[in-house]
Amino acid sequence: MSAQPPLKILFLSAEVVPFAKTGGLADVAGSLPKAIRALGHDIRVAMPRYGRISPEQFHLTPILSPFSVPMDDTEETARVWEGHIGEDVPIYFIENARLFDRDGIYMYPDDAERFIFFSRAALEMCRQMNWRPDVIHCNDWHTAIVPNWMQTAYRDDPFFKSTATLYTIHNLAYQGVFGYRVLEIAGVAEYGFIAHPDLAPDLNDVVDLMARGILFADIINTVSERYAQEILTPEFGERLDPILRDRRDRLFGVLNGIDYEVYNPATDPHIASRYDIRHLADRPPNKAALQQEAGLPERPDVPLIGAISRLTDQKGLDIIAEIMDAWMQHLPSQFILLGTGEQRYHELFASLHNRYPDRMSLFLTFNAPLAQRIYAGSDMLLMPSRAEPCGLGQMIAMRYGSVPIVRATGGLADTVQDYDPRTDEGNGFSFGPYDAMALYTALTRAVETYKYQDVWPKLMRRGMRADFSWEHSARKYVDLYYRAVATKHGTRRPEEYGVMHPDGTAGRMGGGKQNGSREVEV
Ligand code: ADP
Repeated sequence: MSAQPPLKILFLSAEVVPFAKTGGLADVAGSLPKAIRALGHDIRVAMPRYGRISPEQFHLTPILSPFSVPMDDTEETARVWEGHIGEDVPIYFIENARLFDRDGIYMYPDDAERFIFFSRAALEMCRQMNWRPDVIHCNDWHTAIVPNWMQTAYRDDPFFKSTATLYTIHNLAYQGVFGYRVLEIAGVAEYGFIAHPDLAPDLNDVVDLMARGILFADIINTVSERYAQEILTPEFGERLDPILRDRRDRLFGVLNGIDYEVYNPATDPHIASRYDIRHLADRPPNKAALQQEAGLPERPDVPLIGAISRLTDQKGLDIIAEIMDAWMQHLPSQFILLGTGEQRYHELFASLHNRYPDRMSLFLTFNAPLAQRIYAGSDMLLMPSRAEPCGLGQMIAMRYGSVPIVRATGGLADTVQDYDPRTDEGNGFSFGPYDAMALYTALTRAVETYKYQDVWPKLMRRGMRADFSWEHSARKYVDLYYRAVATKHGTRRPEEYGVMHPDGTAGRMGGGKQNGSREVEV
């Protein structure tokens, strides 16, 4: 595409498929690097070695001697294991038993320390390997301190002199908000809090790691074009919209892809009957098998609607719950819900399940093979999200011939076009306002359209034909990497923002701010 030299990229993520996953970030981290390597770049991934990641199972080998990582006024030791994603993407696992040898991934009181250690150890690992990245690609709050370091603790470090940063926001709702102590742990206390004049005052008295990623990265992106525009508004900005607007000249939207090797109904080892767009007749056995697995009546004629989701407000569970009685009583269809999350939703859907045992089935667990059987066996997939940075479920569903029913927000709006019977255009069903009635009418339209067996397979095929592979988006990421490198020298430094210590005195870098002047490039 261009004559520019191949890049060295360090990709940092708290979760990576197949090693650890709680959501879409893991899918992206397990698939985007493969597509970037296929374009000829030396991309390498790093993540923590959580206790559950077994070196034997994943054929990991120890590399490097244990080395010290500066933390506050002490040092922690890091060890590194090397493995691979797919054939040829190296992945480095940062090990420290005290911080990571635990059952879970997140939700510990020392999460800030854990991920700051991971981020810093990953940088020091590069030095140990004498592998100098051109770009560090940071993802979500866990690694958002890195762009901040590049302009503070590492600013004058010759090893990272030319290293640029790209910061990707996968979900603005999780910001990593901590107290002043985190600045000490990260070794940036001398610079103090960030006091951005446009932020709510309470945010100026805490450390919001996501905000630091946004303020200090050379380039920022999020995972769909629509979401990149939405987060500039108070409705979607999760209180960080003022700084996003301030940096809109370097904010881009790149739609996620899905891993076509993993999500392929022609080869999927977890489904009852394999099929592709030319062999749709092989798909129905998956519906029958799913109905059986879910304990629902085996009815080929009744539309089977799936939902695979974290059970949180963001995913629209409240409006699903609101319509459940009307849906179960008036719309001839079956519903399977797979998800885990907030306890109140576990309880609410368990009681709904008790009320409608023949119409709905409930799996309150995280189960990737079952998710694939739902994509392959359902007729429709429901994603009525309040906000959706990109959303992978609707893309996986389309690849498997399950027609999405979505709220038109973020990446859902960028990938699903509402079916219009007058023009016969569209690949799914979508609705605008976030309310139960709008969801109910979209669901009704979908169930109604399902009856037209000359129309429905067309919708399925449109989804299956769409290209949601990573190739296109990987090229866009490479463009952003080059842009980050080119921007590096023009990047504003922390002293351009007001900063202060907790006692209110000006930090070493006091000063005004500049406004971003260019129009948003999304
Ligand atoms: P988010 O990252 O906000 O949770 P995405 O739609 O981007 O949402 O990604 C969710 C991913 O996690 C999809 O691959 C989806 O299939 C998967 N997933 C969500 N919940 C479950 C579950 N309970 N069991 C298996 N897979 C799940």
